[in-house]
Amino acid sequence: MAQKEIRLRFAPSPTGALHIGGIRTALYNYLFARKMGGKFILRVEDTDQGRYVDGAEKYILRSLEWLNLLPDEGPENGGPYQPYRQSERKQIYRDHAEILLKKGKAYYAFDTTEALDALRKSGDGNQKYDYNTRIQMRNSTNMNAEQLSAAFKANEAYVIRLKVPENEEVVIQDAIRGQVRFHTSELDDKVLIKSDNMPTYHMANVVDDKLMRISHVIRGEEWLSSTAHHYLLYKAFEWEEDMPQFAHLPLILKPTGNGKLSKRDGAQFGFPVFPMDWNNDDGSKLMGFKEFGFEPEALLNFLALLGWHPGGDQELFSVEEMIPLFSLDKIVKSGARFDFEKSKWFNQQHLLQIPEENICDRLIAVFKDHGIELSLALSKSIYSMYKDRVIFFKDYFEQAKAYFKETNSYDANFIQQKFKIEYLSVLKALKLELQDLALFEANNIHGLLQEFIKKMNIKPGELFPLLRLVMTGIPTGPDVFKMMEFMGKDKLNQRIELFSDFIDKNLTV
Ligand code: GLU
Repeated sequence: MAQKEIRLRFAPSPTGALHIGGIRTALYNYLFARKMGGKFILRVEDTDQGRYVDGAEKYILRSLEWLNLLPDEGPENGGPYQPYRQSERKQIYRDHAEILLKKGKAYYAFDTTEALDALRKSGDGNQKYDYNTRIQMRNSTNMNAEQLSAAFKANEAYVIRLKVPENEEVVIQDAIRGQVRFHTSELDDKVLIKSDNMPTYHMANVVDDKLMRISHVIRGEEWLSSTAHHYLLYKAFEWEEDMPQFAHLPLILKPTGNGKLSKRDGAQFGFPVFPMDWNNDDGSKLMGFKEFGFEPEALLNFLALLGWHPGGDQELFSVEEMIPLFSLDKIVKSGARFDFEKSKWFNQQHLLQIPEENICDRLIAVFKDHGIELSLALSKSIYSMYKDRVIFFKDYFEQAKAYFKETNSYDANFIQQKFKIEYLSVLKALKLELQDLALFEANNIHGLLQEFIKKMNIKPGELFPLLRLVMTGIPTGPDVFKMMEFMGKDKLNQRIELFSDFIDKNLTV
């Protein structure tokens, strides 16, 4: 028998911004497909008209693009099983519902909303539409041919329901959870086709997984209970042989560890839980990792390790490195806690792994956007001064822009708590000393400052923060000698003047 092709799909519903849990699902599908030499398919599950949100599909596609999780088949690039947007496949689901009707595995149901309400409220107050109760409802399992055609003639609204078999065990082999058991007594006769002729999630999902020859279904834990109905659908169609391998991923938990990470947590704790910014209709905005400044590969590395680890101590992986290591048996069952500080660490580490030339190119471009022409040599100096201090790429500009643009604000804490008026004469003296320094270069500056410190009887712990403050407005920063070299003698002199003026104007002693 020919080996089954490995085909994975990511099947989001365009009901709003895609939570990072969805991105992790996409990533695992992608990694597994690549590892197995299979295909990664994007299918847009947009049959729920009530929950459809304009712009959400585009958002999902752009997010995957940013992260370079590009599908082999999907709504934008097509493929052998197109279309990949479920709203364009309505007839397929309807035809498949007919197959089940013919097999006696599904039935028409004409119940009114009132009748359904009454059913629900009967018994324990939460009564299901199932093999015990369907007999008392208005459906084709208990209507004769005449009654049925009369109902159609009268144009009565109907749905098509799955006829869940009586008293059967449903046993699913999940790659992560092992054997998961259900009993049909727990399961209702799920609607497959709604009264607007649209399929439900269950129907469209199973039919498409079969027709698109999906071999593995990797998805969030919240879909585990639906799998019982999916299994029954495979059986009803007699597609058991094509049942995919299921793998249900653990939840991503709140930073506190209790409960599922929600979009409200992002707003509450001030970190993103979405890949990119999303603008709500009411003018509010959900924060994205992209706009926050994350490198795509750092985000993927962080997300991959929320629930999976190949073993060993290594934590930093590129996507290319993860591919050969990825396997379903290394995914954990229990939820993984979202730790924003850790995601920042990943970003910092990934930035350090990007080759210097690339960072320098990006620096030149960013400074240019701000009207500053940066030479390659200057970009290299910025890189070497700041590479160990930045968490996000944007920090380079934030921290280095002060060399190019004069600052007129100085760290208020320093001014209030550490500044002494004698510092003004220290700065004046330093200016004079520096005048004679022929080669204005970090090592020479270092030597000169060592002497100067002794002469002026000032501690390095006082002088260096002061010099940083004078140059950039803040007392912290990289090696002060390198900063001075980078700024150059003339600019440094100007900054000393500016600072002295500022103190004269603002500090009356
Ligand atoms: N459309 C479902 C979702 O939004 C897909 C679930 C599945 O992968 O089966 O997540």
